[in-house]
Amino acid sequence: MKKLKKYENPLAEPGVLYVVSTPIGNLEDITLRALRVLKEVDLVASEDTRHTGLLLKHYGIKKRLESYHDFNKERKAPTLMKELKSGRSVAVTSDAGTPGISDPCYLLVKLAIQENIKVIPIPGASAFLSALVVSGLPTDRFAFEGFLPVKSGRRRKRLEELHEEKRTLIFYESPHRLLKTLQDISEILGERKMIVARELTKKFEEIKRGTPEEIKMYFQKSKVKGELVLVIEGAKRG
Ligand code: SAM
Repeated sequence: MKKLKKYENPLAEPGVLYVVSTPIGNLEDITLRALRVLKEVDLVASEDTRHTGLLLKHYGIKKRLESYHDFNKERKAPTLMKELKSGRSVAVTSDAGTPGISDPCYLLVKLAIQENIKVIPIPGASAFLSALVVSGLPTDRFAFEGFLPVKSGRRRKRLEELHEEKRTLIFYESPHRLLKTLQDISEILGERKMIVARELTKKFEEIKRGTPEEIKMYFQKSKVKGELVLVIEGAKRG
C-alpha cells in the first residue's frame, strides 16, 4: 500500500503522554493509530485496568498497565509524571471513549503541560458526540454539561440555570437516576424534543426520541439498564 507520508507519525516518542480514545462498547471502534500507540508505549495508565486489559487482550497487546482513576489520581499523577520525565512514553485511557471527558484524565494533562511534557491526542469514540450526531437536534452549537448533580435540589437548580440556554444540551446520566432526572427536565425545561441514547454501539443500543414526559413514560415500564446520554433541544432561538 502506498504510504501517506504527510500523515505519518514517528514511532511512539519517549517521554510523551498519549491521550488515547478507546471504544465506548463495540471493540471495533478503535483506530489503527490508537492500536499502534498502545503497542508501542512503555505503559498504559488506565481508569479501569480490567476493561482496558480486555481490550488489549482482544488485540493481542501485552503491556504494563497502571491504574489511574478518580480515587487514586492525586497520588498517582505525580508518579506518572516521573515515568514521563525519565523518558518513558505513557498512554492514558478512560474506561470508555475519549479520556478527559467526564473522567480524571484532565488532571494528568494539566500536570504534564506544567512540567513541559508533550501531550498528543489519539482521537476516537466519545459517547456524547455519537449521541449528538444522531439526535436530529441542531449540532452547530451545543453545550456538553457532563453529569447533572446527584442531589435533587442541586440538579433542579442546574436545570433552572440552563432554562434559557439556546444551544443543544447534552448530559450523561446513570440508569438508576434517569426517571427522576426526566421528571425534573419535564418540570423545569418543559416540552421540548429530546433523545435518550442508551448502550450506543452495543448489542442493546436504543435511541428513544420524544418529549421528556413521553420518554419518562416509556422508560418507567421496566428497569432501566445500561449507559445513557441525554440530548435536549435548547431554548427557542429568536
Ligand atoms: N470518556 C467517555 C466519553 O468519551 O464518552 C465518558 C466517560 S463517563 C465517566 C461515562 C458515561 O458516558 C456513562 O455514564 C454514560 O453516561 C456515557 N457513556 C459511555 N459509554 C456509553 C454508551 N456506549 N452509550 C451511552 N452512553 C455512554
